[in-house]
Amino acid sequence: MKAIECTKPEQLTLVDRSVPERKTGEVLLRMLRAGICGTDMHIYAGNQPYFEYPRVIGHELSAEVVESDPESGLRDGDLVYINPYIACHSCIACRSAKTNCCVSLSVLGVHRDGGLAHYLSLPRENVIKADGLGADQAAMVEFLAVGAHAVARAQVREGTSVLVTGGGPIGIGVALFASLRGAKVTVVDMREERLRFCAGHLGVETEHAGEGLRERLLDRTSGEMFATVFDATGSPAAMEAGFLNVAHGGTYVLVSIVNARIGFEDPEFHKREMSLLSSRNAQLQDFERVVKAMRDGHVPTKAMNTHTVAFEDLPREMPNLIHSNSGTIKALVQIG
Ligand SMILES: [Zn+2]
Ligand SMILES: [Zn+2]
Repeated sequence: MKAIECTKPEQLTLVDRSVPERKTGEVLLRMLRAGICGTDMHIYAGNQPYFEYPRVIGHELSAEVVESDPESGLRDGDLVYINPYIACHSCIACRSAKTNCCVSLSVLGVHRDGGLAHYLSLPRENVIKADGLGADQAAMVEFLAVGAHAVARAQVREGTSVLVTGGGPIGIGVALFASLRGAKVTVVDMREERLRFCAGHLGVETEHAGEGLRERLLDRTSGEMFATVFDATGSPAAMEAGFLNVAHGGTYVLVSIVNARIGFEDPEFHKREMSLLSSRNAQLQDFERVVKAMRDGHVPTKAMNTHTVAFEDLPREMPNLIHSNSGTIKALVQIG
């Protein structure tokens, strides 16, 4: 079979691999689609810490069951999506059901070989039936679950004023699931096409980042700012600036992770009695929320899928997908 390996920074290579042998308790899968996201782009650019080259990338995955244990509840040909987080089930986080932040978490396509390959064998618990979805939709569950998880963590409610900074795929997921809870959502981004997407397909308010943003946000909220602010920018400067966008008594959720120190003025933090949260990956119930929203027709998956790439073409197409002017929201690789 073929697989796509990130051999070294800025190089993807189509390589020959043998079809993996399924162990007991695992499911052998024929891969169908893989979404490309910021993580893949960081790996490709060479600025993902802890990544060891070479590695088969791909963690936003849909597949078809080829073979599983009789008691697995899966049948050959079932369409499935993948939970790419492989947890230890014994550490302190796993013991309190927070497998998304397992001490020794191993993520497909990052810490171990991922799904940009014709076949993959995975533990049964990481393979979830995607009844009622298409192969494209099933490959979009993971990144949206990251947004759904952040919204659940912040306990967003009907009528909550929410600000989402960063209108990429993760910010879109946050804005979507906050809206579905009845929050009043504003999205900030520097890119006009992302703001157009959010206004047009999610029905949220938008503000262009840059000059005078703080004044415009104050105006928009009658000087109160936002009860819940989510950062999905991947920018240390934006994460620091975001503290001032939180209302008194409000919550700040850092969804994107940066390889840097970030700081804040304690008086600004304290006078608000601000709750500061990080949000990492997603849990099974977040994946399930996304699937339900897709089945209910609340997720504009067709519009999000701006680019489709054939498996063999990805090594050549990757630089174009990364280019910020390409207007990419979600690129899906067609594997099978
Ligand atoms: Zn991703
Ligand atoms: Zn663990």
